[in-house]
Amino acid sequence: MKKLTIRDVDVRGKRVLVRVDFNVPLKDGAVEDDTRIRESLPTIRHLLDNGAAQVVLMSHVGRPKGKDASLSLKPIAERLSQLLGRSVPLVDQPSGDLCLLENLRFDPGEEKNDEAFAKRLAACGDVYVNDGFAVSHRAHASVHAVTKFFQIRAAGFLMEKEIEYLSRLMENPEKPYVAVLGGSKVSDKILIIENLLKRVDALLIGGAMAYTFMKSMNIPVGASRVEEDRLDVARRILEAADQAKVKLVLPKDHVVARKPEAGQRTELHDNSVLEGWMGLDIGPKSVFDFQGELKKAKTVLWNGPLGVFEIPEFSNGTRHIAEFLAKHNATKIVGGGDTVAAVEKFGVKDRMTHVSTGGGACLEFLEGKELPGIAVLSDR
Ligand code: ADP
Ligand code: MG
Repeated sequence: MKKLTIRDVDVRGKRVLVRVDFNVPLKDGAVEDDTRIRESLPTIRHLLDNGAAQVVLMSHVGRPKGKDASLSLKPIAERLSQLLGRSVPLVDQPSGDLCLLENLRFDPGEEKNDEAFAKRLAACGDVYVNDGFAVSHRAHASVHAVTKFFQIRAAGFLMEKEIEYLSRLMENPEKPYVAVLGGSKVSDKILIIENLLKRVDALLIGGAMAYTFMKSMNIPVGASRVEEDRLDVARRILEAADQAKVKLVLPKDHVVARKPEAGQRTELHDNSVLEGWMGLDIGPKSVFDFQGELKKAKTVLWNGPLGVFEIPEFSNGTRHIAEFLAKHNATKIVGGGDTVAAVEKFGVKDRMTHVSTGGGACLEFLEGKELPGIAVLSDR
């Protein structure tokens, strides 16, 4: 780890300003899923246990346009209090040894990376900590501008874990390294694919993305979702894979239906998709193929569901790959909002080596970009 972490910092007697990501789903004024809050507990406990005089937490939730009572962090402060077994007040001005500031995005300065707003935030601490990996691809005031005012800018434990596992994929992944890519669009994943081609031994492609590749090879795809304006890109990627000697595996059979809806009659099409049908999941032969490649892998990256896993009829490909990985002995990294939802749904999240908490941030990291919120942390 090249960045300073809270392990390296003596926080005794100091006021610590901590950017966390408490951007959790709220429903009827209550926290619907507290995963992100729980992920920040080790950092909060560490700072308190090591004698910080004051820990000031800050986060945004949702996309408020100015002050919006329905997007107050109040329910989040309450859930955090329950989880810690002590009260965490929601405050405008820091008080006590632990408190939470109100939604950062209530101030337009946050998203503008405004220096004056950042300076006001900075007045709340002597040391700065970022534990919000999932917001670190955004140059917002609490992540970026605020750091100008601190000499000590350390990563929290969650941030550290994310950087460590994701950097390992970029620097020296244990080989063979196999990436499974799926999801909806090639256009979202072009930069990741280009980066992966420099590093992986095999690239397994499923999901809707596969149909743009197939069409670019003149394989009939019926009514499957295709990005017509990305056929050239797909061809270029296929060529680049060939040159880089990366084995690129596309699905060879498809679960198809007339519409991507529950209750549809499904068929299994081999090799190509017949006219009028949509490919909505990879078929059993493809699952077998993908597993054959994964079996050899010492490192696996998975981003993007292999079918419309939200609908039971089209979830088997994703489920079988998830279950296979759960049993496979390798470093297994999962990233992407929907892919994380899939491993949770199929009950195998705990069997993965690392499940990234950052959707967009994780993708940008794997594209090889330096995230603005990580770049500004102190080096060790
Ligand atoms: P992530 O959030 O993990 O990066 P994406 O957002 O790229 O993943 O893609 C997820 C979406 O792709 C899911 O909602 C899934 O239903 C959809 N999808 C997967 N396969 C197909 C397919 N064959 N046709 C249409 N949509 C698909
Ligand atoms: Mg998504």
